[in-house]
Amino acid sequence: MMKSLIKNKNLWMLFACSTFIVLGCRHRGSESSLQNQGITSQSNVLPWPSRGRFSSPFGMRGGRMHKGIDIAAARGTKIRSVRSGVVEYAGWMRGYGKTVIVNHYNFKTLYAHCYKIYVSKGQNVSTKQVVGTIGRTGNATGNHLHFEYRTMDNKALNPLPFMYRAANQAVAKN
Ligand SMILES: [Zn+2]
Repeated sequence: MMKSLIKNKNLWMLFACSTFIVLGCRHRGSESSLQNQGITSQSNVLPWPSRGRFSSPFGMRGGRMHKGIDIAAARGTKIRSVRSGVVEYAGWMRGYGKTVIVNHYNFKTLYAHCYKIYVSKGQNVSTKQVVGTIGRTGNATGNHLHFEYRTMDNKALNPLPFMYRAANQAVAKN
């Protein structure tokens, strides 16, 4: 009786281990499909910088290049840094109004048309830390966040491929 219980226990252990291995492989499989989309892993995917309505994509707009995406929301809506980093710029920028640039060491993000800025140059920020609030400072027709993703040499890229399920998301969530 005792012997067969021990034997069963070993079988259960074997079953549990093989299940773990199978599930582990499946998980790695889904990660590699994300890699095919240019996303290296779940933990590298950026959150949305604010709540609001995705109101304008990256790309040519009215004969000019729109170097970021726009998220429209009420004045005072929180803007959160999408990653930890150090504040590279906090202040007025021509056209951009009150602007924050966060350096994340392998890329940068820019948050423009702020109503208020809550950080200053040289300050360290953590992921999702509030850096300011949505406004319409600079060249903006309504309250919205203009969000840019930049390479270290300040080339603006479309942020959407770095944001999980971005293309399917009509409403920005945070
Ligand atoms: Zn914009």
